[in-house]
Amino acid sequence: MSIFDSPAFQGHEGLHAFADDATGLKGFIAIHSTTRGPAAGGCRMWAYADEQAAIDDALRLARAMSFKNAVADLDLGGGKSVIIGDARAAKTPALFEAFGRAVDTLGGRYWAAEDVGVSPADLAHARRSTRFIAGLEGHKAAAGDPSPVTAEGVKRGIELCVRRVLGKDLAGVTVALQGVGHVGAYLADKLAAAGARLIIADVDEAAVNAVAVRTGARMVSTEAIFDVEADVFAPCALGGAINRHTLPRLKARIVAGGANNQLAEPAIGAALLERGVAYAPDFVINGGGIISIASEIRALGDDGAYDPAWVEMKLSRLIQTLDDILERGIRELRPTQDIAIEIAQARIDAARIDAARA
Ligand code: NAD
Repeated sequence: MSIFDSPAFQGHEGLHAFADDATGLKGFIAIHSTTRGPAAGGCRMWAYADEQAAIDDALRLARAMSFKNAVADLDLGGGKSVIIGDARAAKTPALFEAFGRAVDTLGGRYWAAEDVGVSPADLAHARRSTRFIAGLEGHKAAAGDPSPVTAEGVKRGIELCVRRVLGKDLAGVTVALQGVGHVGAYLADKLAAAGARLIIADVDEAAVNAVAVRTGARMVSTEAIFDVEADVFAPCALGGAINRHTLPRLKARIVAGGANNQLAEPAIGAALLERGVAYAPDFVINGGGIISIASEIRALGDDGAYDPAWVEMKLSRLIQTLDDILERGIRELRPTQDIAIEIAQARIDAARIDAARA
């Protein structure tokens, strides 16, 4: 099937292939939408099985960024880049400089930040070839690691869900946390400080031990985490945690966590609703990180500084939007994921109409 006929490409503004023979760089930049502003989204480095898998991932992730940025009410569109390669073996400074040149050819229509396999140090190399890189460290505009802001938003989102569903605060509430990497570990600390009881699992034994020692969390295997008695299930590992096999095992009345793409397929949104489980849509509750990156992009645009007060204002509004989505889910008896997508799409459409009128 040609790219233009493929359902994955529908609705995208562009897909840009890039390559650099000298460094072995190969990859794609997908731009879903620049209607609300320049497309922004991370750069992922992954050993994709083939080019089609890399294209599909870039397109899927770029679309998701349009929705995430719109629901967080940022003046940003959605885009994503993928570099084909093993992040543990194929990274070189020259490869990321070449990536920076590829980003630069788009003249600011796309801003890259970190994603799986790409660190602030890698991006610092890319920054030598283009100014359209965010998520850096060590300058006045720099957002640094977005994970603490992501975790803060997720903690507030969980608190909101617990208040709505269980009518109490976090003290004494049991949270099953899948994945204690960057976001999961910060989240565990915040939940423990608020008095929540934690049950945690991670494939990384050192990570899970360190969090257990700090927070008093109970450790279980990565399989058992789906079966534990808990009030909240918080996916903070990879995508697809909630699927046809795991959903019937969950005891929690709330699913709310930091991971992207938590629902293995759209139909799981309806299945959660049928089971009476409140679901905080992933791309809403985990928007803190991109809000932090957006502050850096703003600051770089006007030679300003990272602005924690602006980040706090956007984060508070995002949690208010989550509250509205949860309320509509109950009132309209519809999956919250569908409602969140509808809100994001409406904001993108409104910006398109405004732009056409201007
Ligand atoms: P990370 O790689 O630091 O952490 C992921 C953790 O999950 C790791 O510790 C890993 O060992 C663990 N893990 C992998 N498979 C597992 C399994 N089957 N069971 C239990 N644990 C498992 O990544 P992160 O930055 O913390 O991101 C976590 C999730 O949040 C990802 O889905 C990411 O896309 C999403 N996210 C992150 C941010 C951010 O600011 N970092 C923002 C938005 C969304």
